Amino acid sequence: MAPSPTQKTIVVGAGPVGCLAALYAATRGEDVEIYELRGDLRDPSVTPLNFTKSINLALSERGINAMRHANRPGLLDSILRDTIPMHGRMIHSASSSGQPTEESQAYDAHGRFIRAADRGALNARLLDELETMPNVKFFFHHKLAGADFKRKRAWFEHKSASNAETRETMREIEVKFDFLVGADGAHSSVRYHLMKYTRMDYKQSYIDTLWCEFHIPPLTTFTDPEFRLSPHHLHIWPGNTFMFIAIPSTDKSFTCTLFLQSSKFAELDEKPETIEEFFRANFPGVTPNLITPADLISQYKSNPHLPLISITCTPYHYTDAAVILGDAAHAMVPFYGQGMNAGLEDVRVLYSHLDAHKDRAVALEAYTTERTPDAAAISAMAQANYKEMSADVKSTVYLARKRVEEW
Ligand code: FAD
Repeated sequence: MAPSPTQKTIVVGAGPVGCLAALYAATRGEDVEIYELRGDLRDPSVTPLNFTKSINLALSERGINAMRHANRPGLLDSILRDTIPMHGRMIHSASSSGQPTEESQAYDAHGRFIRAADRGALNARLLDELETMPNVKFFFHHKLAGADFKRKRAWFEHKSASNAETRETMREIEVKFDFLVGADGAHSSVRYHLMKYTRMDYKQSYIDTLWCEFHIPPLTTFTDPEFRLSPHHLHIWPGNTFMFIAIPSTDKSFTCTLFLQSSKFAELDEKPETIEEFFRANFPGVTPNLITPADLISQYKSNPHLPLISITCTPYHYTDAAVILGDAAHAMVPFYGQGMNAGLEDVRVLYSHLDAHKDRAVALEAYTTERTPDAAAISAMAQANYKEMSADVKSTVYLARKRVEEW
């Protein structure tokens, strides 16, 4: 019997989810081509996200297990080496005399923890691994422009890297595929084209909270830089309907995020001189202790104030031709720290079905059936966790203080 021809899988999007999907496909001997809108994020001149080089994420067992199942010796260890265990959350508040206080709340009675990870570093490590595989080809600066899922063809606009801004250099190429994996993020083009082929239910919503990134630098009074806060916690300054959080980085700084209603951002935009007072009143100890008032204001002004989108849709696939994974299928608000983790888990679940069924169409149907309710559940939990993080975490602090005061 003639051997079956090698399958060609194309992956659209070289973010963490696309890269892991490419690894799974390549490990199974398929010819893999990865098409990415932006440049190679390992190139220091490339900004891989809309606004910044990277963001700090909470990496949990859900995502770790998916990378473990890629079965690439040494890969997971090398990724975890660059992460920082966070054993609990640290709730920041103020005593009745206005002094900053901290309360550590462990995540798990058995000592299990989540990890602070740099999205860019994790993504780069997956790209490094893919580069070692002879059956993987990269196509950076290639934007999916169209797809015919019946004829299994996709079209990409390609700009040369040196002329990335000039439209004159744009060329369109046609690519044939056996299987297309769409991992091109929340504003997915693959999803858009898939909708023309399948009766996809789709819902997109924004919450009335924007986010803005801040940075707490390391303490450099001594020869070696030091963390200014406990490195093994996710730090939260709850504000009831808004919050400030800080996640440790391996360079001993913290990447912080202010989550705040759009109307409140508008008020601060109008009166930047009130930003320091707003922080002093709501996030005890942040300024001047961790971020100087001047830095606070300049970071507030220079870093964008970005929206938070939730997307639910189903089905995720069309026949045996294509599937969407990660944010392309289920972008969610970040309050449960599970967006990327769930996307990585998509890859593990998808390939468990592809391994179990000879017929890819059957496997993709089984994937959609299993994954749709799971993604909806985790997205709903992420929405609900905003209240937990911004308000409910305080209750233990309040209760404890009240008890002490009553005593
Ligand atoms: P993306 O990371 O969006 O990657 C998509 C890729 O596709 C990009 O490289 C893009 O350039 C490319 N692309 C887009 N369009 C095209 C096109 N037309 N053609 C070719 N390529 C294209 N998740 C967690 O698990 N834990 C956390 O703690 C966490 N915190 C977060 C905090 C914030 C503030 C935010 C905003 C998100 C957070 N997330 C977190 C979510 C996480 O960032 C996303 O879920 C994750 O990045 C999704 O990965 P992805 O690979 O599916 O998509």
